[in-house]
Amino acid sequence: MGGGGGDRWQPVCAGGPQCDTAAHWEGGRSPRSRGPTPGTRSALATEFVLLRFARTGGWPFAGCLTSDLRVRLGKREGIQQVERPGDDFASQQPADAFLEERRWMVDHQLRNRGIADRRVLQAMLEVPREKFVPANLIPLAHEDAAQPIGYEQTISQPFTVAYMVEAARLCGGEKVLEIGTGSGYGAAVLSHLSGQVYTVERIEKLADAARARLANLGYANVTVVVGDGSLGLARYQPYDAIIVTAAARVLPTAYQDQLADGGRIVIPIGAQFFGQTMYRYTRRGDDWEIDNLGGFAFVPLVTAEDQAGA
Ligand code: SAH
Repeated sequence: MGGGGGDRWQPVCAGGPQCDTAAHWEGGRSPRSRGPTPGTRSALATEFVLLRFARTGGWPFAGCLTSDLRVRLGKREGIQQVERPGDDFASQQPADAFLEERRWMVDHQLRNRGIADRRVLQAMLEVPREKFVPANLIPLAHEDAAQPIGYEQTISQPFTVAYMVEAARLCGGEKVLEIGTGSGYGAAVLSHLSGQVYTVERIEKLADAARARLANLGYANVTVVVGDGSLGLARYQPYDAIIVTAAARVLPTAYQDQLADGGRIVIPIGAQFFGQTMYRYTRRGDDWEIDNLGGFAFVPLVTAEDQAGA
């Protein structure tokens, strides 16, 4: 094995909802991107040249930005913040040694490339990514790349995490299923953005480490389960969103069965390691809306079949 987990190519426009038109992205590095220092980039990081064929319509977070939300163009820490009455997570500003790194990551890798959901930006600023990578990779934790976490798996590139959770259109309060716990970083970001997070990991040692890490950091609304996530997690269904952080060959039917009406599945589908396309499936009763969210590269979603054949 040896592909990147959650690596993506980059848009050249500044992004935002108005950026959501077909073929608006192209390969290569954005001129605005900092890029890794030569020689420090993860060997697992990959770059691709593909077009984005998004056919999503309009402002993707319209469902969230209802009148009970007050949009505050906060200047604090340079992050635009969304505040709800009684919700002060936006004011919980971590003061730590890596805050500058994370702010840089948020501004240059996320906001400049079109991540527009202020709650997502805030969550990515607050979650201490440096605590989810192996100690020797802490200096690279905020680089624009996936990083190895052992067992031939990776923590996804920051943009990929932000892009997927944004695509899930979370408003807070949702019950979310994540497939592929890995380091636990994605689950921590989801913990800020939703009500309850269930995350499934097939490699027990990764799951145990992630569970301990999340507990130490105080993420009380995350449950880590060891198991085959290609079967979903029937025990706690239905979910308002299912986010799959490993590439499936086809959409597992369990995800469709376990999704609530109006819910979203965000999943990369395609050949292993290369040529995967991320999709969002939105359930509308018995109908499904399908959005193509562009090309990515993920580690494979291992199924029972794969294991039997291994
Ligand atoms: N979300 C993670 C990155 C995940 S990488 C993070 O933030 O760090 C993909 C993960 O999916 C790997 O840890 C891999 O072991 C796991 N995985 C692959 N197939 C799986 C399956 N069938 N069930 C559960 N986890 C699986």
